[in-house]
Amino acid sequence: MSEHLRADSLRTLFPQIRQLRIELIFNDPTTQLPSPSPQLHTLFGPAPAFFRFACPCADCDGAFDLTEAVATLITGCAERTQATPFTGQLACRGMRFRDHATHQSPCQMQLSFQLLAEPRRADEALELSRGPGAPLRGQR
Ligand SMILES: [Zn+2]
Repeated sequence: MSEHLRADSLRTLFPQIRQLRIELIFNDPTTQLPSPSPQLHTLFGPAPAFFRFACPCADCDGAFDLTEAVATLITGCAERTQATPFTGQLACRGMRFRDHATHQSPCQMQLSFQLLAEPRRADEALELSRGPGAPLRGQR
């Protein structure tokens, strides 16, 4: 959790992005149990730019790291003005602890993700470039 709180804000790292949507769909092909619930995260400027999500298996110590995917997405959409989706898949590399923690097995959880970055509008970008120390003063 502290790592999450220490992360720079989305606005600091990616000032050109107004909003980032992260959709996570989990699937474990090795089990007949129902798949974990999909997750939808919507991040705005002040949110920490932290893109690692714990594996939904309760007994797994793994996590899915989308940091690189987010960077790729945002670099790619820097020249565009439209919201741009980016999809991909990751496999969990964690270990599951079963049978009273004496037996470990690699986690087989698969993640399909979709990232959607909404670029800042031109007028918002202008406001940002003025910086926080220069509020608009009344014209006299
Ligand atoms: Zn896992």
